[in-house]
Amino acid sequence: DTALAVVADGGHGGLARLAALQRMGWDHNRHAIVATVTPREALPGIAFEHFQESGPLAFLPIGQQQFSIVWSLRPSAASQMLDLSDFAFLEALNRQRPPHLPLLSGVGPRSVYPLFFQRLWAQPSQRLALVGNAAQTLHPLAGQGYNLGLRDVVTLAALLREAAAAGHDPGARRLLEDYSQIRHRDRLETIAFTEAMNRLFSSPRLPLRFARAAALALLEQSTFGKRELAARLAGIRLPAGSSIPDLMWESVHVH
Ligand SMILES: Cc1cc2nc3c(=O)[nH]c(=O)nc-3n(C[C@H](O)[C@H](O)[C@H](O)COP(=O)(O)OP(=O)(O)OC[C@H]3O[C@@H](n4cnc5c(N)ncnc54)[C@H](O)[C@@H]3O)c2cc1C
Repeated sequence: DTALAVVADGGHGGLARLAALQRMGWDHNRHAIVATVTPREALPGIAFEHFQESGPLAFLPIGQQQFSIVWSLRPSAASQMLDLSDFAFLEALNRQRPPHLPLLSGVGPRSVYPLFFQRLWAQPSQRLALVGNAAQTLHPLAGQGYNLGLRDVVTLAALLREAAAAGHDPGARRLLEDYSQIRHRDRLETIAFTEAMNRLFSSPRLPLRFARAAALALLEQSTFGKRELAARLAGIRLPAGSSIPDLMWESVHVH
């Protein structure tokens, strides 16, 4: 008998089916092409996100010389892009790149990820704790998935250490319910924020385009707003009402 199993298979392994987990989700009908690209002139430390109707095209700096791109495209367009030669791919990418980014002259191997939203749940009696993408898979446009998963792990680790110190069952219904409850608000708000951002930025509908332009204009005027949004996107600021246990602080006290 296993006291507790932590499910961390990224949500695309066979564990959801095996454990008959409850699922809610939808397909974004977009595929993301991921590759490392090199610009003609170095532009270290600056990230770009260019919103298009098919979804965002993000350039995330790696080191001093390169960017990792995440390019969201309709599935058929993504498979066409995968089949192009490096030269033709760079030509297509250069046509779509944001205005301030220098010409791109090199590209590494390309891979593709289908984009979907998914939440999975286990029953508290199943002695399963879901962390990271195994609990929730988000659209990558806001770069929230990894930090959200880390916050799952930190919370679960703190609860398990507390249970171990007290000699309690690590897979107890009460512990698993506490885990879900502590993570509930952060998970829900991060999902809502990410999904709303995706809808707002990818919709061709006129009212949403106006709302988007107005929101961006407001943001441009507000240093405070920009700082808050950056802190939220970087995972430094959590949604109001969410908290994660301070693992470092607790470890000082345990030892
Ligand atoms: C294109 C793209 C761009 C992204 N960009 C960002 C970003 O900028 N910032 C951000 O925060 N997040 C980003 N994300 C999300 C981020 O990648 C995920 O949130 C994160 O990887 C989740 O980590 P995880 O360990 O839960 O799952 P995964 O990274 O999927 O890892 C699960 C692991 O489990 C293994 N596994 C599966 N089944 C089994 C099994 N049965 N037995 C043993 N091992 C198994 C898999 O091989 C895999 O190694 C992006 C995602 C995508 C698709």
